Amino acid sequence: MVVIKKVSAKSILDSRREKTIFVTIETNMGIFSASAPNGKSTGKYEKKPYKKDIKGDIKTLKQFSSYFSDEQIDRFDDLRRVEDTIERHVGANTSFALESAVLKALAKEQKKEIWQLINPNAKKFPRLVGNCIGGGLHSPSAPDAKKPDFQEFLLIPKAKTVEEEWETNRKIKKTLQNSLKKEDENFRGKRNDEDAWQTSLNEKEVLEILKNFRVNLGIDVAASTFYKIKKYLYKNPMLSRDKEEQMSYISNLIKNFSLFYVEDPFYEDDFDSFALLLKKHPEILVVGDDLTVTDEKRFGKAIENKSINAIIVKPNQCGSLIEVKNICEMAKKSGIKTVFSHRSGETTENVLADLAFGFQADFFKCGITGKEREAKIKRLIEIEKKLGRK
Ligand code: PEP
Ligand code: MG
Repeated sequence: MVVIKKVSAKSILDSRREKTIFVTIETNMGIFSASAPNGKSTGKYEKKPYKKDIKGDIKTLKQFSSYFSDEQIDRFDDLRRVEDTIERHVGANTSFALESAVLKALAKEQKKEIWQLINPNAKKFPRLVGNCIGGGLHSPSAPDAKKPDFQEFLLIPKAKTVEEEWETNRKIKKTLQNSLKKEDENFRGKRNDEDAWQTSLNEKEVLEILKNFRVNLGIDVAASTFYKIKKYLYKNPMLSRDKEEQMSYISNLIKNFSLFYVEDPFYEDDFDSFALLLKKHPEILVVGDDLTVTDEKRFGKAIENKSINAIIVKPNQCGSLIEVKNICEMAKKSGIKTVFSHRSGETTENVLADLAFGFQADFFKCGITGKEREAKIKRLIEIEKKLGRK
């Protein structure tokens, strides 16, 4: 049994050098800490990271510190007790970090790995989804500098082990440096928020390069970020597309570049266009992120509307690991794939790997390089090695 004796928190800097929360708990099993990441292309329907601001949440945790000691934590589902205590008093980043720290204490008490608290029989490993070239909100905007309007170009290799998949992604990403040097006169070897290459090429030019690699390809359009007044406003080149034009553009890209994975191709309220695209292309993964925001109700609506066949799971979008569990159960029942995902502003916290493996995620979207991304991928590989997967 874990008893939380004291809770405290402070702010630390994420990979974008923005403040995020770091929670520490004192328990009968010792001291445990965890931090939360920050999104930038956040969905309109995401829970707020903090009730008012980070300072306020730090203060609230301190005030609530003694309330937690009444609750005994014996298993994963007991996180509900922690949630009941802080619900509506703090934001999603704070509750995610707190719950992650509690899981670390519980794993220690039970002499288990975190993933074993979720599913001791977990076996299947998720496939890596790695962002190699980026644009959109994750790459800097300068008035005269071009970039792709789409946010992420993703490599999705399939190998016998996570380690081999990561190796493939790193090799391709390295090779891309030369390809971009050749094809993009403005390429300066710079990396964006997720450590993906920055380029002035547009999405078609990027996909022309990527299609030469023997690996499945994906895109995160993050369409809500450039949907304004009923139009998708592209800057590279400058043009606007209405709903129908966006549909045929995405559909053509899927066909011409044999895309395997398409995330957020329409803005976050357009459940119907997602459904239409999936109907046209049932062979690919149509993935909801800003559409579903790791929220049971919105996911329920997406299932009802047959909008998606894969869902992004970002635990700090909802801040409740119980809700994450419910979403994974809903996904399993409906035959929808789960993609556990990092955020663009990350810390070296690696609990995401245990959650992904414990919940038997189908995919693990966590960049390719950079110490914050590597911490999580390395943890997944560590689990793989401990289980003797070859
Ligand atoms: C994403 O859109 O998939 C993403 C990781 O972005 P952010 O963390 O900025 O919301
Ligand atoms: Mg996304």
